[in-house]
Amino acid sequence: MAELSERMRRLVQPHLSTIEPYDPNFTPTRINLSANENTYPMPSAARDAIDRALAATPLNRYPDPMSNELRDELGAWHGVERSRICVGNGGDELLFNFIYAFGGPGRTLLDCPPSFSEYAFFASLAQTEVRQVWRDPETFELDQQAVLDAAPDCDIVIVTSPNNPTGNLVPFEFVGRLCAACPGLVMVDEAYMEFADAGASARSLLDAHDNLIILHTLSKAFGEAGIRLGYVLAAPDIIDVFGAVRQIYSVNVLTQAAALAAVRDRALFLPVIDRVRAERERMFSALAEIAGGALTVWPSQANFLLVRMSGASEVRQRLRDEFSILVRDFSHAPGLQDCLRITIGTPEENDAVLAALRALLAS
Ligand SMILES: *Cc1c(COP(=O)(O)O)cnc(C)c1O
Repeated sequence: MAELSERMRRLVQPHLSTIEPYDPNFTPTRINLSANENTYPMPSAARDAIDRALAATPLNRYPDPMSNELRDELGAWHGVERSRICVGNGGDELLFNFIYAFGGPGRTLLDCPPSFSEYAFFASLAQTEVRQVWRDPETFELDQQAVLDAAPDCDIVIVTSPNNPTGNLVPFEFVGRLCAACPGLVMVDEAYMEFADAGASARSLLDAHDNLIILHTLSKAFGEAGIRLGYVLAAPDIIDVFGAVRQIYSVNVLTQAAALAAVRDRALFLPVIDRVRAERERMFSALAEIAGGALTVWPSQANFLLVRMSGASEVRQRLRDEFSILVRDFSHAPGLQDCLRITIGTPEENDAVLAALRALLAS
């Protein structure tokens, strides 16, 4: 992890002097299952529609700052007015803007680790204190009572459903209780919700809870991590704040055009999502049986599986160096000792992972 030079440590704002930039630890490999991308080919009709939209997009004009056409299409999908939607340059930008706008010095973010490490990173950039309520060390379920007890003292809360990197859902009934317990704002990060069983989204709570924010992205289920498009659903006055703090042109014209075409064609992606779900269940069973139970695997509602095995860090390295397969190493992350996260790929990619793990764990 790159540290700042001596000179820079003196020159940056004091709270940034110890900053460690997020490192996805990427190396080019034959099979990359490290970032929870969708590795299936995009449905060709959807890709054609995107290509046509891109080709027809003039580049000389600034983008529509709020992406109104795209917001209308997203709104039609989720059954909300455009006033309840803000788009961003990936979900990450919206996460940062959320913490920047509603956190800050003297404010507290409630985080439930092990979770997405970007939350704590963005909190540190925005000088926001982080209160951690740890998940159960064995099941990774939320400690619901501890979260409810902490919420009244926190300004903002983020819960991830399905959670990254553990794959489990936050029951949406609990989200309702959390919104009632928190005087500030509650964000449910649903980056992976399209892979979960029907009815798991907190969407239905939006009308009853005006402090609820739901985060979505096109990066995961819709296979468009490269275009950078995320969006939040929330009450109109919350959306006004997201609109006020954002870089006005952060979602460029090509991204708006591609996202609009993809969202119009969203039904074409459903068979791909079903295949990822089926592969996830196949991988879950296969991994659970590997090497006579040498490996623990947790059930997942997302497009990845968390596994634990002794020597995980070495296994990850050998997967990369001997098999050209990249997975994410969490073995040094607090609460995730000896854990790797494996994205669900195509059947061929998944078979390669199973064969490689069988070979490595047998030796
Ligand atoms: C991937 C991810 C996001 C958002 O990703 P973007 O590519 O920035 O849209 C948000 N939250 C979690 C937990 C994620 O894993």
